[in-house]
Amino acid sequence: MKHNFYAGPSILSQYTIKNTADAIINFADMGLSILEISHRSKQFQAVMDEADALVKELLEIPAGYSVLWLGGGASMQFAMAPMNLLAKKAAYLDTGVWASKAIKEAKLFGEVDVVASSKDRNYSYIPRDYVIPQDADYFHYTSNNTIYGTEIRKDPDAGKVRLVADMSSDIFSRKFDVSKYDLIYGGAQKNLAPAGVTLVIVRDDALGHVDRVLPTMLDYRTHVKKGSMFNTPPVLPIYAALQTLRYYKQLGGIDVIEKMDLDKAAKLYEAIDSSRMFKANVPNHEDRSIMNVTFVMKPEYAELEKDFLDYAAAHDIVGIKGHRDAGGFRASLYNALPMSSVEALVKVMDDFQKEH
Ligand SMILES: *Cc1c(COP(=O)(O)O)cnc(C)c1O
Repeated sequence: MKHNFYAGPSILSQYTIKNTADAIINFADMGLSILEISHRSKQFQAVMDEADALVKELLEIPAGYSVLWLGGGASMQFAMAPMNLLAKKAAYLDTGVWASKAIKEAKLFGEVDVVASSKDRNYSYIPRDYVIPQDADYFHYTSNNTIYGTEIRKDPDAGKVRLVADMSSDIFSRKFDVSKYDLIYGGAQKNLAPAGVTLVIVRDDALGHVDRVLPTMLDYRTHVKKGSMFNTPPVLPIYAALQTLRYYKQLGGIDVIEKMDLDKAAKLYEAIDSSRMFKANVPNHEDRSIMNVTFVMKPEYAELEKDFLDYAAAHDIVGIKGHRDAGGFRASLYNALPMSSVEALVKVMDDFQKEH
C-alpha cells in the first residue's frame, strides 16, 4: 500500500473509489454505466439532490443559500466571483499563489484593494494587522494556502462587508460559520472528489447587485435557478463527491473529521519540530495548515534533500516533494489520509535521520 501525500488531485476514501468504480459498471441498478446515462434521469437527479442535502447538513448551511456544482475549477471562480459581486471595489488578502491569481482576475472587473500580503517572507505567515475598507463590495481570502502550508482557521471579521472565501483545500476539514459568508468555493480535487467539479455555496441575496452584462454560464443565478443543470454537469465527479459526503457523515461529521485532522497534523509537526534535520516552513504555530504541512531540510543538511525523497519513495511514501514555489517537502494530510500514513512518514523521517 502506498501512503498518498499528493496535494491535489489527492487521496480519496476507499469508500469513494470503490462505489464510484461500481457505478461506472452498473449505476443504480439500471444495467448501465453512470458514464452513459442522461444527467436528467431520475436516478441522477437523486444523486444531485442527496449531494446538495449532505453539503447543507455537514456544513450546517442556513436557509437562503444555494449549493452549486460547476465546471471550470476554483480558477474559474477567481473570475466568476468578481463578475457577479464586484460593482466598484473589492478587498483581497494576499496569502499565496492562489490568492494572487484571484487578485489578478478581480482587477479585470473593478478596483482591488489588497489589504495585506505575506509575499515579503515567501508567504510563510498569515498577515494579522490589516483593515478591511467598509466601502468594499466584499472581502476575499484563501482559507488554506495549499502551496505554502498556512491556514486561516478562524472566520475573519469583515464587519458589514460581504465575505468570500476560496476554501479549495480545507473545506470539510474544520467547522466554520457559513452564515458569515456570501460566497464560498472550492475545487473538488482536494477533499471531495476527482477533478472536474467545483463546489460553490452562495447566499442568494448577494446576487443581482452588479450592472454588467453576465454571460449566461458565468451568472451564478443561472445555476441557482436550474439546480446546477443548466448544461450537463460533471456527472462522475458529482457522483464521487456524493460518496465522499456519505462517508463523512458515517464518520460522524465535521467535528469528528476535524479532530482526526488536528491529531494527524500535530503528530507530523511535532516530529518536524523535534527533529535534528528538518524544519517547518511556517514558524508561527497558529498559522500552520492542518491540511498541507510544508517543511525543509535545515541548511546544514540541504544536500540530503533528494536522498530523502528517494528514501521516502522506496518506503511507499508518495507525493511529498514540495511545490516548486516553496521548495523542500509538503505532506498533504487531507481527510481521507489515515493516521497510519502519518505514522509511516514519521518513521521514515526518524530512520533516515538515524542513517545520516
Ligand atoms: C488547488 C487550488 C486552486 C486551483 O484549483 P483548480 O480547480 O485547479 O482551478 C485554487 N485555490 C486553492 C486554495 C487551491 O488549493
